[in-house]
Amino acid sequence: MKLAFTREEEAFRDEVREFFATALTDELRQAGRLMTSVYSDKDVALAWQKILLEKGWLVPSWPQEHGGTGWSLTQRYIFACERARARPPALSPMGLSMLGPALLGHGTQAQKDHYLPRILSGEDFWCQGYSEPQAGSDLAALQCHAVRDGEYYVLNGTKIWTTHAHYANRMFCLVRTGRFERPQQGVSFLLVNMEDPGVRCEPIRFVSGCATQCTVYFDNVRVPVTEIVGKENEGWTVTKYLLEFERGGGAAAPGLLEAIGNARDLLAALPEADRAAPARRLNDLEVQVHSLELTELRTLAETERTGSPGPASSMLKIQGSELSQAISEVAVELVSLYGMPFQPDAYRLGSNVAPIGPQEAVTAVPFYLNNRAASIYAGSNEIQRNIISKAVLGL
Ligand SMILES: Cc1cc2nc3c(=O)[nH]c(=O)nc-3n(C[C@H](O)[C@H](O)[C@H](O)COP(=O)(O)OP(=O)(O)OC[C@H]3O[C@@H](n4cnc5c(N)ncnc54)[C@H](O)[C@@H]3O)c2cc1C
Repeated sequence: MKLAFTREEEAFRDEVREFFATALTDELRQAGRLMTSVYSDKDVALAWQKILLEKGWLVPSWPQEHGGTGWSLTQRYIFACERARARPPALSPMGLSMLGPALLGHGTQAQKDHYLPRILSGEDFWCQGYSEPQAGSDLAALQCHAVRDGEYYVLNGTKIWTTHAHYANRMFCLVRTGRFERPQQGVSFLLVNMEDPGVRCEPIRFVSGCATQCTVYFDNVRVPVTEIVGKENEGWTVTKYLLEFERGGGAAAPGLLEAIGNARDLLAALPEADRAAPARRLNDLEVQVHSLELTELRTLAETERTGSPGPASSMLKIQGSELSQAISEVAVELVSLYGMPFQPDAYRLGSNVAPIGPQEAVTAVPFYLNNRAASIYAGSNEIQRNIISKAVLGL
């Protein structure tokens, strides 16, 4: 195992760092700092997406003929590290990191020709319709169904927690098209036009005040049969491919170190007598983040060698989300009373409303509250622990 970067990789890192330093406008930088969750607003995300597209760095993991960079996993990791340090606004992952790979692996030529360029340009803004009121961790229990009627599927049912459904003009979703012994069978992967009659979307307001997720209702929505990805009843295969595609190259630790740095700025504003206890907690968290960083690097080396991170991706998900939650908790304690006023106008991009207290106090509480979801989405931490117990401990 080798944990040092080569001279070429160091040069690449300088190039990426320089790019972030020059490509991020003041407004985009500010948008990144005002984020209260892992999502940015659509306009900001698309503005940043356009800059990355022009640079040719929008979809590093895609094949080069479709816009990928051809980078090694290590280069992708370096890019992710530098991105975390630069704190740009977040890109919407639904088209770029989820549907795009699914189409690359299982789409027809017509689907690739039509949708891939529109994902890159942002002309289509996608949401992911998997979860339902009674199907989350146990996704195979999904009930939303599509029945064939000539050249259409007729879609009925409900999706929930659908991120950005109210911004999206398209949804990729899993629907039931057949009933078999194994619930994973009989599921199909369908592309739905959110502007079609019968689609209704209701934003869900979270305790943070944000409304980023939605409930989506389908009432006899007619979807052309050409909009199925993969074969009918075999949507599970498409989903599995999609999950495998982006394996490796991610980096949570650099962003967490940034978050600790920000918390230390808040700490410095406290009277000296009050600093010792939170300082100790931040030191302790920093040690844990460095250990996560080493695990990330070890996993990177393993993935370079074997092509798969294996169960380490579950470990990284648990550690990354729990450390992020712990850091955001300290940040809330540090802003103290200034965290109490609810002041969304003070963290809206371009707003001239002055915050009550320091600027960091305005986003600390909504970020903390939204960040509670980090241990639920993308496969809850309990489910990740189940994976580890089976794959590593053999239980
Ligand atoms: C902010 C946010 C964004 C999301 N975005 C999307 C999106 O864009 N598209 C989409 O389709 N979905 C989205 N989701 C939904 C997300 O995927 C689900 O919330 C998640 O899969 C958990 O499902 P659930 O909410 O139904 O909880 P459940 O599956 O009912 O789980 C409830 C609790 O029980 C635990 N649990 C469940 N099964 C087990 C088990 N076998 N062993 C041990 N513990 C278990 C869980 O860990 C959890 O703590 C989002 C969720 C959030 C919070």
